[in-house]
Amino acid sequence: MNPVYADLPTTVFERMSALARAHGAINLGQGFPDDPGPADIRQAGARALLEGDNQYPPMMGLPALRAAVAAHYARHQGLVVDPASEVMVTSGATEAIAGALLALIEPGDEVVLFAPMYDAYLPLVRRAGGVPRIVPLRPPAFRLEEAALAEAFGPRTRVVLLNDPLNPSATLLGRDDLALLADFCRRFDVTAVCDEVWEHVVFDGAAHIPLMSLPGMRERTVKIGSAGKIFSLTGWKVGFVLAEAGLMRGLAKAHQFLTFTTPPNLQSAVAFGLAKDDAYFAGMRAGYARARDRLAAGLTGLGYRVLPARATWFLNIDIAALGADDDVAFCEDLVVRHGVAAIPVSAFYPDGSVRSLVRLCFAKADATLDAALERLADARRRAA
Ligand code: GLN
Repeated sequence: MNPVYADLPTTVFERMSALARAHGAINLGQGFPDDPGPADIRQAGARALLEGDNQYPPMMGLPALRAAVAAHYARHQGLVVDPASEVMVTSGATEAIAGALLALIEPGDEVVLFAPMYDAYLPLVRRAGGVPRIVPLRPPAFRLEEAALAEAFGPRTRVVLLNDPLNPSATLLGRDDLALLADFCRRFDVTAVCDEVWEHVVFDGAAHIPLMSLPGMRERTVKIGSAGKIFSLTGWKVGFVLAEAGLMRGLAKAHQFLTFTTPPNLQSAVAFGLAKDDAYFAGMRAGYARARDRLAAGLTGLGYRVLPARATWFLNIDIAALGADDDVAFCEDLVVRHGVAAIPVSAFYPDGSVRSLVRLCFAKADATLDAALERLADARRRAA
């Protein structure tokens, strides 16, 4: 067994979902909406399955989807990419990240990562032979700091892997932080791999800024998006990659021997979805913002300290304010004794340096959130 995987635990999301099932808990752990997703997009997928072509689509993705991706990013983020040579469809964002790391890293190359980080990142970097250099971001602001970047970047840095908006902190980077990072990328001749799957799930008028749009970054950024997050269809696993044509040629080589392609009916349906009018995106954001406010207000009323959530489907509570110092124990107790599954944020800090935050998913129906709040009230009463 390769040592990277030999001692790796099952992902925290799978573990907490299994515990939720075993204890009949309300699952606010793993991030997925309990809404079935947009009916018209699902219908487009069903129609394409029955009436369309179900043999291998082109390795780079259906031309219709690649054109839709290019048009979508031109419309929403002002990015100009050539659909034929600068867009690739993958089986989810995780495949895109894995492929990018495999294509870009040679053994011994250094990769700058930020903690909190999605739990797939570190094993993928290590398996690709990369040497991780981790920059910790501190709650509650989770901002980039020049001194920490200066410590992490060096002559061996090949890639920086960035998630923005950031899961689990529910924050997004502003232009100053992005400019600082872009400056380091240019100075050290580094490629940025940007996991921007939460780009549309931003609240309170905030706008996501793609790192690729900053001066000098167009040629050195691999931008990754996901239909699962844009359309609340997490099981579909349709992702897309934007990169300058030369860079894309290398990424495509990795993709062709990972999954090669992605189910054609889902690709057609996503092409349809990406062309939806602004009202869809505004409505989606407003719906999640309402759910966030409902859960946050309920938690605050119960005496939980809630961190601001400006993006994603998640909010965090600060358990140190409750006198707790072990997020894993807190989450185990919560799921086993009180029937609510959550995610301990230490799972996103490889050095375990932050153990005071617990992540809750609010992408749920009001009734689900209200039922969870009742159980969280019970947890507070029994702790008091
Ligand atoms: N992205 C999801 C989350 O953060 C988890 C995805 C998964 O379970 N692999 O909850």
